[in-house]
Amino acid sequence: MKQAKYIFVTGGVSSSLGKGIIAASLAKLLQARGYRTTIQKFDPYINVDPGTLNPYEHGECYVTNDGAETDLDLGHYERFLNVPTSQANNVTTGRVYLSVIEKERRGEFLGKTVQVVPHITNEIKERMQLLGKSGDYDIVITEIGGTVGDIESLPYIESVRQLLWDLGDDNAIVIHLTLVPYLAAAGELKTKPTQHSVKTLMESGIKADILVCRTEHELSSDIKRKLAVFCNVKPEAVIQSKDASSIYEVPNNMLAEGLDKVALQKLNLPEKGLPDLTKWNDFLHRLKNPTATVNIGLVGKYVELQDSYKSILEAFVHAGAANQVKVNVVSIHSEYLTKENAADKLKNLDGVLVAPGFGSRGIEGKIEAVRYIRENNIPFMGICLGMQMAVIEYARNVLKLENANSTEMNDNTPHPVITFMEEQKTITEKGGTMRLGGWDCQLIEGTKAYDIYGTSLINERHRHRYEFNSYYKEKFQEGGMIFSGVNPDTQLVEIVELKDHPFFVAVQYHPEYKSTVANPHPLFVNFVKATVQKKLNN
Ligand code: GLN
Repeated sequence: MKQAKYIFVTGGVSSSLGKGIIAASLAKLLQARGYRTTIQKFDPYINVDPGTLNPYEHGECYVTNDGAETDLDLGHYERFLNVPTSQANNVTTGRVYLSVIEKERRGEFLGKTVQVVPHITNEIKERMQLLGKSGDYDIVITEIGGTVGDIESLPYIESVRQLLWDLGDDNAIVIHLTLVPYLAAAGELKTKPTQHSVKTLMESGIKADILVCRTEHELSSDIKRKLAVFCNVKPEAVIQSKDASSIYEVPNNMLAEGLDKVALQKLNLPEKGLPDLTKWNDFLHRLKNPTATVNIGLVGKYVELQDSYKSILEAFVHAGAANQVKVNVVSIHSEYLTKENAADKLKNLDGVLVAPGFGSRGIEGKIEAVRYIRENNIPFMGICLGMQMAVIEYARNVLKLENANSTEMNDNTPHPVITFMEEQKTITEKGGTMRLGGWDCQLIEGTKAYDIYGTSLINERHRHRYEFNSYYKEKFQEGGMIFSGVNPDTQLVEIVELKDHPFFVAVQYHPEYKSTVANPHPLFVNFVKATVQKKLNN
């Protein structure tokens, strides 16, 4: 089997420089040159996965087909590459320690003292090479979370150092992403933070091969030369990454700077001609030349933090480009939405999406939003908790099931139209125990969902504990609600929709996780189309 080549991406000076986007952009270019490329992320926190983290802590939790709850950067990897990721693509310190401690309990270390070096580093190294050894990839890009110099990143940095030594020069390189700040008072770009950050990396025994410099202003050739000399890299390996208006511009910017070329040279791999970005550039063209703007409300309780709904926002970007319109997402805080102000907040919107979520904060606002949208024929899409709220709203206001609710919010509701799944009843642990990952869904012919997908069997990703209560199925059907998608094995309801409404589709699963640049999600595409139609009719 051919040896996979490794590219490690570390970060310096500051967090939030966009290592994930740089890694995804480089991967895109390498993929477009014909290399089978994947990206993995190693996160230095002690949670075993981000599934138990509040979105305010770490943004959205992204879910893969195999049901892994992962870092949101994996979403970028999939959106850029259009290749699914899995549990193997995201490893945290917690997962590494858990596995080493379990091995210790099983006696696998044969009486040895278990230590960070070599036991933790060996575990990390093994996991870093897992995808590379599968034979599925030519190049594996590994993003190391955090910033060089952080205490918690040390075992990862040491593992990278050892792997560079094990694999040899042609097989592994390091890209260091840094910040070149602009000091307005001095009118100058400053290289010193980068020099120090590269030095910190050196103290751990790692020499950066390529520098990617985030900057608000153009780096002059003088600055580039200075960075090259003092950071000990080749001049062509100083890559400028100037702020871009969209993350989807970054691959082309990196191409112009020659990031992929330098990486291939260092790995001793042929360029194989120019990268084929035809489809990507076609998407960019549609993204940058919208023919109209639609305003879509996003009703949720984490709206202050953009990262909480990352995949939904990106799915709108893809669906907007597919319709060649700009989707302007208007954040609406569900906690402050009431019967009294719903009309004010929603009447000028072309469509509304009610977001996923957990717990009772803000749910009455979501229910009011659905009521207003349903009664006023505004295109609506509900996701997960959003679908559950649509069901509750229908139960209360149309079927007159007073105080209908989800047992997540009220255990004593007289009408538990949304309730715990049977197999969830005995579960006491919170981590990794929801209904997770890809599940089949059978679509019913003649429904909107069937039309949208154009097929009868789909597979979508889930992340929830509660379900539509099948006990109420007939009552809802008699009352006009259509169950257009069900799980073929359990008959659990996956999609609800309404007739005689321009667009009213709510899903128990998360379509946003599967939307990519190459494959915009059909539900989002058709929802945006309905909002364009609504705007035209107004
Ligand atoms: N809280 C709901 C449940 O657990 C919905 C979850 C979600 O929106 N992801 O079923």
